[in-house]
Amino acid sequence: MKRWLHLWRWWILLGLFWALVAAGLTGYSLQRRDDIIAEELDRLATQTKVVEENLARQLTVIDATLQAIRHDVPNWRGSAVQKLQGIQTLNHMEVAMSASPALLVLDDQGVIALSNRTELIGRDFSARDYFQVPRKSPSARTLYVSPPFLSALDTYVISLTRAMFNAQGQFAGVVSVIMDAHDSHTLLNSVRYSPDIVAMLFHGGGALFIREPPAATMAGVTEALPVDQLSGLMAGNAPLVVTQMAWPSQVQVNLVALRRVAPAALAMDQPLVVAMTRPRKAVLVTWRQNVVSAAAAVFLLAITSALVLSMTQRQRAQKIMESKRLKLATEASQVGIWEFDLITRVYQWDAAMFKLFGLDPKNASPRNDEWIKLLPQADLQRMRAATRDTIHQDKPFDMTFQIRRPDAQVRHMRNRAALYCDDQGVPRRLIGATEDVTRRKQEEADLRVAAVAFESNESMLVTDAQNQVLRVNQAFVRLFGFDVHDMVGQRPSKLKSTRHESSFYQAMWQQLLAQHHWQGEMWNVHQDGHDILCWLCITAVCDDAGAVTHYVANYTDITARKAGEDEARQMAFFDPLTQLPNRRLLQDRLSQAMANARRNGTCLALMYIDLDKFKPVNDSLGHAVGDTLLQSVSQRLLSCLRESDTAARIGGDEFVVLLPTVNMCSDAVDVAKKIHAQLRLAFELTTGQTVHISSSIGVVIFPEHGEDEATLSLHADMAMYNAKAAGRDQVVLYHEGLHS
Ligand code: GH3
Ligand code: MG
Repeated sequence: MKRWLHLWRWWILLGLFWALVAAGLTGYSLQRRDDIIAEELDRLATQTKVVEENLARQLTVIDATLQAIRHDVPNWRGSAVQKLQGIQTLNHMEVAMSASPALLVLDDQGVIALSNRTELIGRDFSARDYFQVPRKSPSARTLYVSPPFLSALDTYVISLTRAMFNAQGQFAGVVSVIMDAHDSHTLLNSVRYSPDIVAMLFHGGGALFIREPPAATMAGVTEALPVDQLSGLMAGNAPLVVTQMAWPSQVQVNLVALRRVAPAALAMDQPLVVAMTRPRKAVLVTWRQNVVSAAAAVFLLAITSALVLSMTQRQRAQKIMESKRLKLATEASQVGIWEFDLITRVYQWDAAMFKLFGLDPKNASPRNDEWIKLLPQADLQRMRAATRDTIHQDKPFDMTFQIRRPDAQVRHMRNRAALYCDDQGVPRRLIGATEDVTRRKQEEADLRVAAVAFESNESMLVTDAQNQVLRVNQAFVRLFGFDVHDMVGQRPSKLKSTRHESSFYQAMWQQLLAQHHWQGEMWNVHQDGHDILCWLCITAVCDDAGAVTHYVANYTDITARKAGEDEARQMAFFDPLTQLPNRRLLQDRLSQAMANARRNGTCLALMYIDLDKFKPVNDSLGHAVGDTLLQSVSQRLLSCLRESDTAARIGGDEFVVLLPTVNMCSDAVDVAKKIHAQLRLAFELTTGQTVHISSSIGVVIFPEHGEDEATLSLHADMAMYNAKAAGRDQVVLYHEGLHS
């Protein structure tokens, strides 16, 4: 909540300010509107007062005329001369009155007795209101005011009438002045100070007499006084009513001023009422325009201030962001910022500098130059020389020195600085940045070591994580015949040999991905197509997060070693002269064959063969010829056997044949006899000699002649010796009666 308030406080203040301005302006405008209306009503009231005063004067004149006529009428009765005199008097009176009204004298029957309009004399006007009303309630004091009516002269008029009485005080007729509207039109028009003002004159009974401007329809019919609303005025208590009402238009609200016209001296039975109205809207036109302009101005100002605030805030936010970013950047880069005042010789450091040098800002001296003690003498001199060069020759300052921090760590610091001069060009300050480059230096050294190591005699190949070759060393080029650019960008599978199934490579990758290491023998192909057997070591290189970034492969050519191993193996299990299995391999095969025979319940045969009188061959033809003969014998032995049989040489001229499965003894003896017969045939040696020899063969059957290897071998040997003893050149099947 607090944070929210803090964030929006300027907007809230601005909103409050403009709300206050708007409220103030609204209050002022409403007050102003009321004032305007009050002023306007006042003005209308004043105008009605002008009309009232004029009318009152007019009425007073008329009443005086009526009084005079009433006084003189008795003098005009009787002779024609008197009557004529009366008419003349009336004529004079008419001329004296500005409106030239008709002056009537009616007798007690309502017949015109005298008039300045002589054509009316003798006419009966007894039906007229102005005769009937005084006749019914005759009063000497009252001035009777008739409602408007259409006169005999066809104009709209009202009459002002006084009753006459005879000497006995009885009603004796009336004297009337017929007032037409002409004068009053002029009067009402003269007070209309604006064309939208309607000025009206009413009879007290409510009927309209005059309207300015004239209404389209006939006066007295269209308008009527709003009697109900104006009962106060009608009751005669208030001479003036000002109000706002939908009258006389009945649609728009008008400002209305009504004023009674009834001078007290005249004792009028009905007053006249002056009405002036003006549309309220028309009065407020200027006010409304002002309100709209003021509102527009406020709105524009509010919008402008909001824009300005928004811009200021954005700029402020940007500035905050920038300083944060800068702080973050310097913190992240671990760069310290410093200033050296050339005049005061004071160093100013930021927090990062103290951290880099392992110094505590609290213990800093006023000059803050403790760090100089951390530099070796040589570096200090270099640093001072570089500073001098920068100040005097404006050379860029960029040097790396070593420090021994208070915690005994040795670090390398790179310093860059720029010179700042004052307006006169005098150098004032060095401003610089210092960075700990110890790790970078270490890494550079590591890289140099790695580069040397990479170019060792071991063949090396480096790929990226996607197994694309990045580099190979010269030993690799020498081993495989591919050039560096043949390999870079390719895959190591370029070296793939057809000797391995794809499952071999799959297993390799499985282990490499799981354990990040693989080693083993692998055939690879040289650029010229020949296969090379390698001892291959692949190691994955991981980044800090443990993700593989590179693979490094190390190839050792083991083709020659492998050949040597094969040879040793051959020597261990085979006879070097004849290539036949030796005694050790024979033993192995014999035990395997016996196990099989036991399991399957079958028989096997073993025969010992010794050449007869071989020694003399050696002695006469030489040892080399003897060797050749032994090789030929072994070939002939093999020719007598099946694939599954084994012929072994176990001694000088001593051979053993193993038949792993035989059906019966006679089968074995047959094979022995076949061998015996074959060996008796002449040997055409490659050395050119022809040699004849014979052999002595002892045969045993498993399991019949021995259940274990030792017994079986012993009995075979026995049978063979028995053959020798019996004169050589024969086959002997073992039986129990043989001599050991
Ligand atoms: P016998 O009829 O009793 O078997 O007599 P023999 O002459 O064949 O002699 P014997 O079997 O006792 O000895 C085998 C001789 O074979 C002894 C040696 O001179 C000869 N000899 C042994 N090993 C080799 C060899 O590797 N090469 C050659 N050339 N001669 C050998
Ligand atoms: Mg022999």
